[in-house]
Amino acid sequence: MSSLPSSIDVAIIGAGAAGLGAAHALRDKDVSFIVLEGRDRIGGRAHTIMASPEVTFDLGCGWLHSADRNSFAVIAEQLAFTIDKSRPPWRDQAYEAAFPRAEREDFLRALEAFFTRTAEAATSGRDAPASICLEPGNRWNGMIDAICTYLNGCELDQMSLLDFEAYEDTELNWRVRGGYGALVAAYGAGLPVALNCNVTLIDHSDKRVRLTTSQGTLTADKVIVTVPTNLIAEEALRFKPALPDKVAAASGLPLGLDNKVTLALEGWEHLPKDSGMRGRSSTARVGSFQLRPFGQPCIEGFYGGSFARQIEAAGEGALAAQAIDDVVALLGSDIRKSLRPLAESRWGADPFARGAYSHALPGHAGKRAVLAAPVDERLFFAGEATPPDFFSTAHGARDSGERAAREALASLGRP
Ligand SMILES: Cc1cc2nc3c(=O)[nH]c(=O)nc-3n(C[C@H](O)[C@H](O)[C@H](O)COP(=O)(O)OP(=O)(O)OC[C@H]3O[C@@H](n4cnc5c(N)ncnc54)[C@H](O)[C@@H]3O)c2cc1C
Repeated sequence: MSSLPSSIDVAIIGAGAAGLGAAHALRDKDVSFIVLEGRDRIGGRAHTIMASPEVTFDLGCGWLHSADRNSFAVIAEQLAFTIDKSRPPWRDQAYEAAFPRAEREDFLRALEAFFTRTAEAATSGRDAPASICLEPGNRWNGMIDAICTYLNGCELDQMSLLDFEAYEDTELNWRVRGGYGALVAAYGAGLPVALNCNVTLIDHSDKRVRLTTSQGTLTADKVIVTVPTNLIAEEALRFKPALPDKVAAASGLPLGLDNKVTLALEGWEHLPKDSGMRGRSSTARVGSFQLRPFGQPCIEGFYGGSFARQIEAAGEGALAAQAIDDVVALLGSDIRKSLRPLAESRWGADPFARGAYSHALPGHAGKRAVLAAPVDERLFFAGEATPPDFFSTAHGARDSGERAAREALASLGRP
C-alpha cells in the first residue's frame, strides 16, 4: 500500500478493473501516478472470497464475457490462471420436473423472438423502454423480464432499447478457475495504490486539480475518475466547479442490482456439476442457480432487478434464506438439511458501489459517450459505464481505463 503524496502527475480514483487498467497503461511512461481507493482492498466489483475451505466464490464478476475479445482472458493466461472454457449452463436445465423440456423450448423460442424484435426496433434509431418489444399477453413475458434483470440489473421497462442493442456479445463465455476477482487483484498487484482513501471533492477551479480525500489533500495535473455512476449521480464524489452534464449522464446510467449467493451442499454428489437450474415462472421474481460450480460442494444463486432489491432490503441472510427455499421448491424437501448459507453479496448496500452494473434508462442511450468525454483536458472518465459496446463488464471497464490513460498521456504530450 502506498502513502498519499502531496503532488502527482496523474491521480486515478478507484482501484477496480478500470483504475487498474489505467494504472498499467501509465507504467513505464515517465509520469508519476497513484491510484486512490476508498476500500481496504483493490478490485472493486471484482471480488473473490474463499466462502469455505472448499468453495471459491466470486461476489461480483464471474464470467469472461465475449471471451475471444476479452483482455482479461489474455491477462489470465499471462498470469497463469486456469481458464475453464466449457459452455455456460444458462440455457440448459438439470431438472426436467422444474421446467420440462417442451416448455423450456417454447420459452427459448419466445426469448429469441423477443431479441429479434429488439434488434428490429433499434434500427429506427428511436429510443424507448425495451419492454415495448414484449408481445402482449405472451405467457413467457415474466421470464423474459427475469433474463433482463440478470443481464442488466433492472426490468425491461427501465431499460433503454438502444442501449440494450448496443451491448456487444460474441457469445463466448469462459470462467477463471481461481476466481475473476482473484485475477483482477493479481493484475493490480504491485501498482501504487493508496487504500482507505475516499475522495470526496475534485476541485478543478485552479491550474492544478486539488483532491480532497479521507487521508488529506493532493494536487494533480490530470485526474482519471473511475467510480461507479451512482456515486457521481448522488454526488458522493463532487466536482468544483460543478459538472452538471456528468451528473446528468451518470443519473441516466444508474446501476441496476444483481446479487449472488453460495450455499454449502453436503452430499448430493450425484447432482451434475456445472449444471443450470431455474424454475418456470410467470414473473421476473425468480432466481437462477448453478449446481456444483467447478465440482465444488455448493449451489450458487443469482437474483436480479426489483426482486433482488426487495430481498436485499430484508437484511443480511435474506438472500441465502430465499435461495434455500427456492432450491427446496425445485429439488424437494430432502435437500434442505444439506444446505447451509456460506456467503452472499449485497451490492446495493455497498457504499462504494451502490448497485451492480450500469444500464441506460430509456432515452439515455447516448449518455455513455457523454460520461466518457474528457473535461478541459484535465479530467478523464473511465469505468464500466463508459465503453460504447462492452459496457457493464470487467473487461470493458479495464479497456476504458486504458483508453482514459492514453487520453491523459496525450494531453501531457506523451502519447
Ligand atoms: C453481482 C455481479 C455480477 C457480475 N458479473 C459479471 C460477469 O460475470 N462478467 C463481467 O465482465 N462483469 C460482471 N460484473 C460487472 C463487473 O464486476 C463490473 O463491471 C466491473 O468490475 C466494474 O469495474 P470498474 O472499475 O468500472 O468499477 P469498480 O469495480 O466499482 O471500481 C471502482 C472503484 O472505485 C472505488 N471508489 C468508489 N468511490 C470512491 C471514492 N469516492 N474514492 C475512492 N475510491 C472510490 C470503489 O471502491 C471501487 O474499488 C458483475 C458485477 C456484479 C456486481
